[in-house]
Amino acid sequence: MRRAKSCGPKGTGQKGRAKRDGQDSAMKSITLLGASGSIGQSCLDVVRQHPQVFRIEALVAGRNATQLIKDALEFRPACVALADASQAPAVAHALAGQGIEVLAGRDGLLEACQRPNDICLSAITGIAGLEPTLAALTATRRLALANKESLVCGGSLLMEAAQRHEVAIIPVDSEHSAIFQALHQQPRKALRNVVLTASGGPFRTWSADAIAQAKPEQALAHPNWDMGAKVTIDSASLMNKALEFIEALYLFDLQPGDIEVVVHRQSIIHSMVQFHDGSYLAQLGAPDMRSPIAYALTYPDRAALNVAPLDLMTLGRLDFEAPRHSDFPLLKMAEHAWQEGPAAMIAFNALNEEAVAAFLGGRFTFGAIARVVVEGMDKAWNQPIGGLSDIQDADKSARRLAQERIARYAEA
Ligand code: NDP
Repeated sequence: MRRAKSCGPKGTGQKGRAKRDGQDSAMKSITLLGASGSIGQSCLDVVRQHPQVFRIEALVAGRNATQLIKDALEFRPACVALADASQAPAVAHALAGQGIEVLAGRDGLLEACQRPNDICLSAITGIAGLEPTLAALTATRRLALANKESLVCGGSLLMEAAQRHEVAIIPVDSEHSAIFQALHQQPRKALRNVVLTASGGPFRTWSADAIAQAKPEQALAHPNWDMGAKVTIDSASLMNKALEFIEALYLFDLQPGDIEVVVHRQSIIHSMVQFHDGSYLAQLGAPDMRSPIAYALTYPDRAALNVAPLDLMTLGRLDFEAPRHSDFPLLKMAEHAWQEGPAAMIAFNALNEEAVAAFLGGRFTFGAIARVVVEGMDKAWNQPIGGLSDIQDADKSARRLAQERIARYAEA
């Protein structure tokens, strides 16, 4: 196993140190990508609990103008940005006279990402988060990364850019935060393997036939976590664990054989690492994303947080089992995509993003998601991938193929 590259503490360079009039220079400024989403709202709650420590520099969202306006009025950022430019006039009208700049569209979004800040939390969903995250790396000192799809699709580009700009990447995904915490200050050569835990999702005990016929409301009923729709569907198919598998390879500089996926239905152990002396270090906590978010914002310190403690007596036991690969085929495809290379990982993600959107749109039942992805991965995805435009081209081409397959499986 080689050493982790840029996932860890960084120097104390001055880049990105931003201060607004009348504010304490010791306060950390945060640019929040995906502010209106589940992670974004959890992050704002952490900030709400620590108004003396954090301030919001920029709020970036897709199209939820109502939430953005509400949060802008509460947190008073220097700027807000929406991907959907048609919403900009309504936001500008609502924030008129507040001293908050309103930006919109792709260029506006990238401009917001490039405002100097101390911490950028990247929580846009899907590959849509990649370009803003890359832009943010030019202006921040720390990337708190939730958007796993940007690592899956542009892992090398993102890790290299982080290193070039001397930005530390601190994982937000609960599993990767757990691994990061367990590895902290441990000799890396002592690491035997990483145990990535998975809740198993709502279909953990369902029969293959029932899974295939499942409807969106069933797949959206996650037993432990309250998350955005796309990641919740990915949890139900174990695609989320597949994406996290690749995310862990990049973040911790691992090889596929270094990671074991274990189903742990209670989502209390967020992941663990095993050392050569037979010791395991695990990180436990209630399933509440505010804890790993706060850790990513405060590392190497810890902030007090108003989250529910674990009730161990009520919990009583922790269960572990092997994943049912035959009924959840997307998990194993992560290793295949990784071995095939960057174009295959981009296709893997794009096929899934399109299939999940079609499923949520009611075009077919749950089983078709895996069929669209597995059949799409039969194609040889091996074109060379250099920069962002190569990634975007490969993404488009996989989405075209996904749409053909989706049309085949869509119900009349
Ligand atoms: P949500 O769907 O709840 O939120 C997604 C956010 O991204 C929203 O703010 C949305 O804006 C914004 N967005 C979507 N498309 C665009 C776009 N093209 N340009 C700009 N902004 C856009 O997702 P989650 O918060 O659940 O997840 C976000 C990321 O974090 C995902 O990558 C997920 O895998 C990861 N993650 C999530 C966890 C969770 O508990 N939720 C746990 C660990 C990781 P709007 O709504 O305004 O359109």
